[in-house]
Amino acid sequence: MEECKRCLLREIDNGDILESIRTRIEKLSDNDKVDDKVYQERLSKCKNCDHLISGVCMKCGCYVEFRAAFRKQKCPDVKNRKW
Ligand code: SF4
Repeated sequence: MEECKRCLLREIDNGDILESIRTRIEKLSDNDKVDDKVYQERLSKCKNCDHLISGVCMKCGCYVEFRAAFRKQKCPDVKNRKW
């Protein structure tokens, strides 16, 4: 996979990983995950963040499309949290 700054997985060729993430998010209870509006807002902030490379947050090593789905998760950039 080519490195892509500020790219989400859904924008690059990573079908298997993205499918796996979507399946795991679908299995979360509604109490554990954010609604789609919040999810898209979070991803939009990641899209404008210098720490996002090829779908991975360089602050925590997570795929942001997975991390952003969890209600209890926060942006890991403690000095400049974006969500
Ligand atoms: S630091 Fe926060 S906003 Fe930036 S990519 Fe990571 S989770 Fe997203």
